[in-house]
Amino acid sequence: MGKAMIIGAGAVASVVAHKCCQNPDVFEEICIASRTKSKCDALKKELDGGKTRIETAQVDADHTEELVRLIQRVKPDIVINVALPYQDLTIMDACLETKVDYVDTANYEPPETAHFEYKWQWAYRDRFEKAGITALLGSGFDPGVTGVYSAYAQKHYFDEIHSIDIVDANAGDHGYKFATNFNPEINIREVSAKGSYFQDGQFIETEPMEIKRVYDLPEIGPKDIYLLHHEELESLAQNIRGIKQIRFWMTFSQSYLDHLQALEDVGMTSIEPIEFEGKQIVPLQFLKAVLPDPSTLGPSTKGKTNIGCIFQGVKDGKERTYYVYNICDHQVCYREVGSQAVAYTAGVPAMIGAMMVLTGKWKKPGVHNVEEFDPDPFMDAMNHCGLPWQENFNPDLID
Ligand code: NDP
Repeated sequence: MGKAMIIGAGAVASVVAHKCCQNPDVFEEICIASRTKSKCDALKKELDGGKTRIETAQVDADHTEELVRLIQRVKPDIVINVALPYQDLTIMDACLETKVDYVDTANYEPPETAHFEYKWQWAYRDRFEKAGITALLGSGFDPGVTGVYSAYAQKHYFDEIHSIDIVDANAGDHGYKFATNFNPEINIREVSAKGSYFQDGQFIETEPMEIKRVYDLPEIGPKDIYLLHHEELESLAQNIRGIKQIRFWMTFSQSYLDHLQALEDVGMTSIEPIEFEGKQIVPLQFLKAVLPDPSTLGPSTKGKTNIGCIFQGVKDGKERTYYVYNICDHQVCYREVGSQAVAYTAGVPAMIGAMMVLTGKWKKPGVHNVEEFDPDPFMDAMNHCGLPWQENFNPDLID
């Protein structure tokens, strides 16, 4: 059916490439293009031999002209951006210039400020619409599946959804005292930032990790969950009928939090450049270099993830609640694609999002978030592609 260009060759990109190759009728050809070509070649070596034809390329995605030249040469039907959020705009610019559809998993973040927002990418709406190409934003798990779950709940179970609690739990143990499950720089920027939640039309800011609850998660058990700001809050606040409150919760172990606190206290999580032996370095980037590479955590990580959404709202004048979630086992994911569940849960939806656009089910010129589309084909694909979901119509609620 089509050809996808995957940009990035890290933990999530590796899952995307594996999953594209598992669906060769849709992904007849893929090109894996990233900054370090040897990583693309290693992936090709692992995946070659199936029906999907694979090529690789070197590209610095910070430079639109380089991307344009590569896209013109490779001629993909869609670009799947699983590099870093810093590259979102340069890649969108290249897609505009070459009129190629675009999918990503994380919204744009300027490298010099730890702040993410959709405004920069939403500003491309008219230009994508005029060019007749689709940009699908945030098609990972969270954001991504959480938006699809919300659209599904809205379509099938509610006239109005009044509150959404997104709970992202990782009960995996990788055996390290401190490591992050996806890109350490992006992860630490996210969790050390102020928290926020949406309430009655506005965002209420909290101190980092200020709000904590305990939630008893299916197949995982009771866990400490902490309120964080997260990007889907912004788009769900606009796209869900009747919404009054949205909160995002993530589990952290005490050991993770203690290490993070110590690193913060000594300045290692700062993104302000400092002079070191005559060179400018960013402490957080240095920290990334000494931490384990998330793509190597697969063999050692054991346990499960559980990510889902708890909804409260009304249907036919009656109050109702609904919880939909996915459980992934780190070792099962590793046996299938050589990656732990955090990369797996982000990479599978990126492939499904691209599949939705390539097959025309979600093809709509403009810039869109996942919850703007019909959730049914995506929900169906998740059941077939390794992210089956479960439902509970009487869940415990978070106060
Ligand atoms: P990694 O750090 O493992 O991989 C990032 C890849 O991007 C690396 O291969 C890196 O190249 C490449 N890259 C970085 N800068 C450039 C550049 N300028 N040009 C070309 N390639 C570049 O990150 P992850 O795989 O963990 O995360 C990938 C994305 O997925 C991130 O945006 C992250 O926020 C997102 N994500 C989304 C989730 C969701 O549920 N929505 C969950 C988890 C992650 P090199 O190898 O040379 O460093």
